[in-house]
Amino acid sequence: MQFIDLKSQYKLLKEKIDSNIHTVLDHGQYVMGPEVIALEAELAKYAGTKHCVSCSSGTDALVMALMAHGIGEGDVVITTPFTFIATAEAIKFVGATPLFIDIDIETFNISPKLVEETLNDISANKNTIHAKICTDIKNIKAIISVDLFGLPANATKINKIAKDFGLIVIEDAAQGFGGSIDGNKAGSLADIGCTSFFPAKPLGCYGDGGAIFTDSDDIANTLKSIRVHGQGEDKYQNVRLGLTGRLDTIQAAVLLPKLEVFDVEIEQRQNVAKLYTANLANVDGITTPSIPDGYVSAWAQYTLMAKDDNHRTLIMEHLKNNDIPVAVYYPIPLHEQKVFESLGYNSKDFPTSSNAAQRVFSLPMHPYLESKDIETICDLIGTL
Ligand SMILES: *Cc1c(COP(=O)(O)O)cnc(C)c1O
Repeated sequence: MQFIDLKSQYKLLKEKIDSNIHTVLDHGQYVMGPEVIALEAELAKYAGTKHCVSCSSGTDALVMALMAHGIGEGDVVITTPFTFIATAEAIKFVGATPLFIDIDIETFNISPKLVEETLNDISANKNTIHAKICTDIKNIKAIISVDLFGLPANATKINKIAKDFGLIVIEDAAQGFGGSIDGNKAGSLADIGCTSFFPAKPLGCYGDGGAIFTDSDDIANTLKSIRVHGQGEDKYQNVRLGLTGRLDTIQAAVLLPKLEVFDVEIEQRQNVAKLYTANLANVDGITTPSIPDGYVSAWAQYTLMAKDDNHRTLIMEHLKNNDIPVAVYYPIPLHEQKVFESLGYNSKDFPTSSNAAQRVFSLPMHPYLESKDIETICDLIGTL
């Protein structure tokens, strides 16, 4: 059994993917070829945004989104400490400082209530755990919300708080793309959305890739300039600092047929998740994921919680001994990572994130997972 099975999907789409790749080899436009332009149009349509700007990775999508909004040195950006390193890395990379705010245990996503409290405290010049990095509310410029494990962060509440405080919201939909809130697709839920096409993400290519979603003509144009070394009207005119941030044409050729079946796969992921949850609902000490009303998760991961660290180790060893792949995303919250030591946080500052980090584990999840495999996994956990 595989944790994420990419081969079943390839088998299904082989003819189209192979022929699309060969078309690129034949026309030879390896960089910014017609497949890239076609994919951007399809992605924008899918997400329901005016623009989609494809790029080289999910990490670069975040970096470019921050750069396009002029966020850098001296600026502070709020995010969650319970996410993949790239979210906070991008903030640091542009010269800004991440300010971590704890999550809600039910969703694993940043807590809107705590965001509001923190912003109010800093506004009122109260002493906070963020004192070392931010005492002046004016330095806070943006919030990066993360759709962790595929479940969109609470955009309704976060957008409202951001508006009250004049902040930009960047949605890190690297795991959430394919999910939605009340029919509005992940990637379109904030001022700007970023996603990743790393092979293991819900919509993955065969290498690195990413995309950025926005309704703003200005931001889309700035992103396109940043994507190619900050180019101006003319190729050899450079008006800002930029990157080599393009998506390869071959990757766009791979993604086009995958996008066609993406909604069917998202539906299949719902069935896998439902079956897991039904079979694990009554297992003592196990907390299955909870999806708020109106939300659809892209189920990048099916992540549950054990009673504690020891219980998790027991379950994981039992599964591994039976050749079931399992993983922990993420064992160390970002405020406890060495790279962020200089932020001055204490390991106890974000108790919910630390609690989750000690208890979460993820089971095999992909659209082609068979019911009998799901039942085997659940039986192993249930009879431990
Ligand atoms: C994967 C991921 C990224 C980064 O995407 P890459 O394409 O690997 O650079 C960013 N944020 C989150 C939450 C991710 O899961």
